[in-house]
Amino acid sequence: MTQVLSPPGVLPGTERLLALAEERCRKLSVRLTPWRRQVLSILLEAPRPMGAYALLDHLRVMAGPAAPPAIYRALDFLVTQGLAHRLASQSTYVACMTCGAAPGHAHAFLLCQSCGRATEIEDHRVEHAIASMVGRVGFQVFGRTVEVDGLCSGCASHESVKVSTAPAPSTA
Ligand SMILES: [Zn+2]
Ligand SMILES: [Zn+2]
Repeated sequence: MTQVLSPPGVLPGTERLLALAEERCRKLSVRLTPWRRQVLSILLEAPRPMGAYALLDHLRVMAGPAAPPAIYRALDFLVTQGLAHRLASQSTYVACMTCGAAPGHAHAFLLCQSCGRATEIEDHRVEHAIASMVGRVGFQVFGRTVEVDGLCSGCASHESVKVSTAPAPSTA
């Protein structure tokens, strides 16, 4: 079943998700330090995926100067623990909308090219499709983040005029 984890414009409670993240770190015996927690809370409240430098600007305002290596280390930690995802196509980061409560599953992101929102989708069929695909060729999987580019429903209705007047894609 397809489950939308971050419906546009509806933010699940940041505090609830931070509590889930803390619980997950306790179980894994790793530390969600105040610095890592702060980075995660900014990602949770960001309306769009953020790049490392945008995060740094945010943190400078909240916590004073921070160096890029420190932010990359925090982001690596969050991604490794399943608390955030890296969107490779745009070199940005988003908080996982399950905050690690459902570890190990494949995540799919619908990336709106107009408003920049990333909607996280959980669908076990994505996992099964990847598992059967890689099983056939003996590929060892490190990451399973699927990125789908397009327009969200809100932007699609605004852009429908432009799209309908655009030249039809070549089928040659
Ligand atoms: Zn996720
Ligand atoms: Zn949009």
